[in-house]
Amino acid sequence: MASETARNIGPIILLGPPGAGKGTQSKQIMQHYCIPQVSTGDLLRDHVQRQTPLGLEAKAIMERGELVPDELMYGIVAKRLREPDSRYGYILDGFPRTAAQAGWLDAFLEKELFDNDYPPRPPIVIRLNVDYTQLLLRITGRRSCPTCGRIYNVHSRPPRIDELCDLDGTKLTQRDDDRKEIIAGRLAAYEVQTKPVADYYEARGRLVSVNADREVEEVTAEILAIIDSHASARA
Ligand code: AMP
Repeated sequence: MASETARNIGPIILLGPPGAGKGTQSKQIMQHYCIPQVSTGDLLRDHVQRQTPLGLEAKAIMERGELVPDELMYGIVAKRLREPDSRYGYILDGFPRTAAQAGWLDAFLEKELFDNDYPPRPPIVIRLNVDYTQLLLRITGRRSCPTCGRIYNVHSRPPRIDELCDLDGTKLTQRDDDRKEIIAGRLAAYEVQTKPVADYYEARGRLVSVNADREVEEVTAEILAIIDSHASARA
């Protein structure tokens, strides 16, 4: 993945509630800088599927929706971040999830700084801020066409005929976890889980907030500008 023109960007951490656009923005960042996304959930699911000792230990914990112990996480994260495609940077997805993990990541990167020809940079931590009411409208209004996959929003991007796909007339559907009663719980859980990580970086003056209540392209432009300025400031 890393091309000759790739720059040393370092780790990028996007924080933001469900529906804030993390997935969309991650994709833009990956393409722009040719860096991979490192998802700890995916790494763990791979271990579970291969039935490795770690996978066997993690499986039940994941099924209960709890956090896998830090000591298990550190091994797989360190191994993944030492892969050649992570040399110039990566987007971390699902890590760090606790303040302890954030502290471990800083220590890990500092150690690699001395052991490596391509010194890793400290993480760029960007929080996507969205207004709670807007977020609810964005998520609860989301509908998709089960036939062609086209996405609509009954508030901001409605179909021409109520609840029917413009392209093929199929009745639009709503994801179960996008329903209002469920999303309120997901948002509350997000706040509780992520706050310690956001607090960790904020206390160190390393949290940059972006207003994500705007068009996707505008948000992307600001994120890329932030990454560029951090990257060149440290080049
Ligand atoms: P995700 O795909 O990010 O939702 O992660 C799925 C599951 O993997 C979580 O519910 C946790 O059980 C586990 N997991 C993923 N990332 C971490 C992490 N950083 N620390 C602890 N457990 C994790």
